[in-house]
Amino acid sequence: MPTFDCVRCGACCVNTEDNRAEGYLDYVEVFKNDGLMRRRDLLSLYAVRNERGQVHLRLDAEHRCVCLEGQVGQSVHCKIYSARPSVCRRVTAGSDECLKARKDHGIDAQTAR
Ligand code: SF4
Ligand code: SF4
Repeated sequence: MPTFDCVRCGACCVNTEDNRAEGYLDYVEVFKNDGLMRRRDLLSLYAVRNERGQVHLRLDAEHRCVCLEGQVGQSVHCKIYSARPSVCRRVTAGSDECLKARKDHGIDAQTAR
């Protein structure tokens, strides 16, 4: 059985190919009630507003959230963990969304015990 140790994963912090194919390029939206909206220091570093006016976290050239440090599937760290947006808090380790993200990154093949 795979283990769901998020600090050895980070797969859900990367926009998926499926999302991108469907035109969802923003991935991590920050909603107005998220505490992060009150952190101008963090927003100025890590967030952008899209053409529809929605705030979302920046992604790097590999479609990873820029707040993610480390190597996906090995060792990762969220730079804004305590202030992460609500969408990040809702992902549950072992959920269908989690399993799909892990599969897309071949993580269960790496960590299966
Ligand atoms: S994909 Fe699952 S195990 Fe990996 S970081 Fe996200 S919630 Fe944790
Ligand atoms: S804010 Fe943190 S938990 Fe959310 S996608 Fe970015 S790195 Fe992952």
